[in-house]
Amino acid sequence: MRYICQVCGYVYDEAKENVSFEQLPDDWKCPLCKASKDAFAPEAAQNQAQPVSVNLESADMKKLTPGQLSAVCSNLARGCEKQYMAKEADLFKELADYFETITPKVSDKTVDDVARILQEDIDNYPNVRAVSDQNNDRGAARICVWGEKVTRMLASLVNRYLNEGEAMLADTEIWVCTVCGFVYIGDAPPELCPVCKVPPFKFEKIEGRA
Ligand SMILES: [Zn+2]
Ligand SMILES: [Zn+2]
Repeated sequence: MRYICQVCGYVYDEAKENVSFEQLPDDWKCPLCKASKDAFAPEAAQNQAQPVSVNLESADMKKLTPGQLSAVCSNLARGCEKQYMAKEADLFKELADYFETITPKVSDKTVDDVARILQEDIDNYPNVRAVSDQNNDRGAARICVWGEKVTRMLASLVNRYLNEGEAMLADTEIWVCTVCGFVYIGDAPPELCPVCKVPPFKFEKIEGRA
């Protein structure tokens, strides 16, 4: 049986290893991206999206909250930046900031809440993918692929944090891939981004954590 890392695509092939996946210790990590064991899925179980019929006309698909709009605009700003469209990038940034100011503040979420929300998102991705397939929307399908990767990446980090606590961050650095958003914890950035394969200079060190 082959087990695939849902974050970076690393394959754990039991036929080539001495240890079955099941027998790997609980703190075993993906050799490429350091995702925990729970980020792996057996090969056969992948792509088992249950097609669900979703009514595109239902209103909640179109109604975004100010917080969501802020996130969308800040992503668009980043996209424009990458295409050297400085003016457009600034305008999207301005919009993102505006929506952020009108976003109602919520009380602090606990790490457990965040883990739960991320898991809900992961569970919903098959539905979203099914809708983009039904509508032959290749752009949306691509976004789903990346969105799901990023969500799994975050979920894997949050779950690691829930298991290891602050020890996970002690005496080490946090790096973010500026191309795909992959978060890497280690003394130096990886040789290649395990997700999007860009070289280490594309990684930014996150400074000033409290
Ligand atoms: Zn991995
Ligand atoms: Zn990357």
